Formats: sequence, C-alpha cells, structure tokens
Amino acid sequence: MPPDPTTSCEHVRAITTVRQPARRECEECVKIAARWVHLRTCQECGTTRCCDDSPNRHATGHASASGHPVIASAEPGERWLYCYPDDAFVSY
Ligand SMILES: [Zn+2]
Ligand SMILES: [Zn+2]
Ligand SMILES: [Zn+2]
Repeated sequence: MPPDPTTSCEHVRAITTVRQPARRECEECVKIAARWVHLRTCQECGTTRCCDDSPNRHATGHASASGHPVIASAEPGERWLYCYPDDAFVSY
C-alpha cells in the first residue's frame, strides 16, 4: 500500500512501495557490537539502521551522510515513514 498521497512531502509522495528491512538488525551496530532500540529502513537504498533513541543513531547518521531523505519504521506493526528534510511523519 502506498503512503498517503496527500502529504505535502514530495519525497514520500514519490514512494510507491515501502521498502521493508532485509534483516531486523542495525548494520552498523552489528559491526561494533552495539545495542539499538528501534530499527529504521532507508527508502532510498534499503539499508536498515537504528533510531534516535539508540545510542549510536545510525539511521540519522546515514541520512545526513548520504542525503537519503526518507526512512520507514522497521518495527513489526509500525507503518509510518519519516522525511528528514521536511520533518514529516506519514503513515501508510
Ligand atoms: Zn520530504
Ligand atoms: Zn546502529
Ligand atoms: Zn540510504
């Protein structure tokens, strides 16, 4: 199901299929044996990284380093997207 087409965020509007996590783990935390709280999946490249409640905030780090604007929650049962440049939450 595509996200809400009425959102003002053009990045989210461009998404037709929400990318799901390939693995339920933060790729960066696994490398350094760190813990995470929640997982987010980048909608541009599909990488899954940890949220801002996690000590290392890898999803936000990835977004600022790569310029990839939109993440989706990778938590079971959560259906929302977040756009960094527009600071917009959109459910789907
Ligand atoms: Zn946007
Ligand atoms: Zn992480
Ligand atoms: Zn990405």
